[in-house]
Parts: sequence; C-alpha cells; structure tokens
Amino acid sequence: MKSSERSKNLRVLKTPSRSNGVCPTQTTSRHAISSLFLLDQWRRLTCGKTEQLIAVGGVRLEGWWTHQIAVFVDYDVVSAGEVRANFASSHRGLVQLSRHAHALTGIFHSHPGFGRGAVEPSSTDLATHARFERAGYPTLGAIFNKDGFVKFFTAGAPFEVQVIGGGVQEVEANVYRMLTRLRRVPLRTFGDA
Ligand SMILES: [Zn+2]
Repeated sequence: MKSSERSKNLRVLKTPSRSNGVCPTQTTSRHAISSLFLLDQWRRLTCGKTEQLIAVGGVRLEGWWTHQIAVFVDYDVVSAGEVRANFASSHRGLVQLSRHAHALTGIFHSHPGFGRGAVEPSSTDLATHARFERAGYPTLGAIFNKDGFVKFFTAGAPFEVQVIGGGVQEVEANVYRMLTRLRRVPLRTFGDA
C-alpha cells in the first residue's frame, strides 16, 4: 500500500462519513476475520450462562476491514435473555479505537441457546446495528451460541465476510460453525524464576 493511500485510509477511520444520519454510500463492506480470532471470541462469549458482548476494533487494509482486537465493555444489564452495554464504557472503548486510528468493525455477542436457530438477530440487535450504520460505522454483527454456530449480520447494509484459517466451517451464507475448541493457554511472564 502506498503511503498516500495509507494516510487516506487513516483519515477515513478517524472521521466516519456522515450525511444527515444516513450512510451516504451503500457499497459492500468487506470483512476478513481470522478463524483463531473467531474461535477465541466464541470461547469468551459462551463461557457462562448469560449473554455476553464485546466490541471489536480493526483497520481497513486493501479494501477489507480486519478484526484485530476485542474491546471489553461494562454491562448495565446482563441475563440469559439480554445483555446491554454501559454507555460510558462503550464510549471509552470507541475513543480508544479512534485514538489509534481503528474503527468499530464488529459487535459480537452470544445467545445462550443451542442449534442453528439460536443465532438469529433479535429486533433489538437489528435496531442497535441500524444506529451504527446510520452513523457511518462499518460494524458487522456476529451472534455465537453454545454449540459453535455463529451468524454474521447487519441491519441492511451490504456486507461480505471471509473467515481465514482452519477450524471453522461455512454451513450456509453468513453462518459458520466452530469445529475445534481452543484450549485455555496459561499466561506466563517470561524471565520469572
Ligand atoms: Zn442478540
């Protein structure tokens, strides 16, 4: 990528395009996601009995949005049927992404059920994503369930997903299934006695 192209991309990331609250372009947003990143978020989001949610930050590279980092937010409400992120905590996360010229490329959350039917977005999920889309964010939704299904969605903005790497299988358009479960790797500080 040329340096002029890189600086242009960074400007786009810092100032999402807005036009009277309506996304000015309906071009397809393309998302490239590592299978290991996906498997790791599946493990995190489905470890308890409640719904859980993370924000995901990434950058634009050669026309594809990457998903680089999980941003953990506080919850106002969390139960088996609902998770609601705290506004101030979410705002702090967005500020951190913006300061580092990253965009909010995803909101990943879990539904505690089993089976393909458990990963359909609710009307609340779609309303949440519609707000981000009107504000010009390239935010992809993902819903995970206990037995490893994940569905990618938007509230209507055209999108394309590529999952890169092994251990995750596409079962239908925008629906994938985890084939392996990551083992928890103990954290270690190198250099300690
Ligand atoms: Zn949901």
